[in-house]
Formats: sequence, structure tokens, C-alpha cells
Amino acid sequence: MLHCNNKIEYNPENCVGCQLCYKACFIDVIRWDAEKKQPIFKYVDECAHCRYCQAMCKKGCIKVVIDYKGMSYRQSFDMYRAQ
Ligand code: SF4
Ligand code: SF4
Repeated sequence: MLHCNNKIEYNPENCVGCQLCYKACFIDVIRWDAEKKQPIFKYVDECAHCRYCQAMCKKGCIKVVIDYKGMSYRQSFDMYRAQ
């Protein structure tokens, strides 16, 4: 599991409730609010910064802001470095 300080900006103004962002997230960062017909970005600290949700939203409601400078981002990739 990657722990990152990413942010996900969501603008509900143009959201049409299509659920594509919700279905795109393969690690359940996004939950679905059935009453409001909107995504809920619930477990953002587990976001893997793949940006599938942003790519799937054709209404431009979602922007994944990756914390490239954050310590946790760098630490998450340390394990892949050659010793
Ligand atoms: S993909 Fe975009 S328009 Fe569809 S539910 Fe998600 S935020 Fe709303
Ligand atoms: S960027 Fe990827 S992991 Fe993060 S919320 Fe969107 S689909 Fe899920």
C-alpha cells in the first residue's frame, strides 16, 4: 500500500452522476453517495496516483494533485531502489 499526501480536487458543478470515477478506482479510494449521486473521496491517503478517475471524468470534475515533494511519496519508491 502506498501512503501519499495526494489531494483530489472535486468540483460537483458539472457532475452528472455517471459513476465512472467511482468504478475506475481499483483500490476503493472513491465511495459512492447514492443519495446525492456523487462520488465521495474517502480514503485519499491510499490513492495510488494513477489518475484513472480524472481520465474517466469527461466533465472535468476531478483533478488528482500528486504530492511529488512529499516524504511519503519518495519513501514509497525507496523499496524499488537498488541497494
Ligand atoms: S466521472 Fe465525473 S461526472 Fe461522472 S460521477 Fe464522477 S465526477 Fe461525476
Ligand atoms: S488517482 Fe487512481 S487510485 Fe487515486 S482515487 Fe483516482 S482512480 Fe483511485
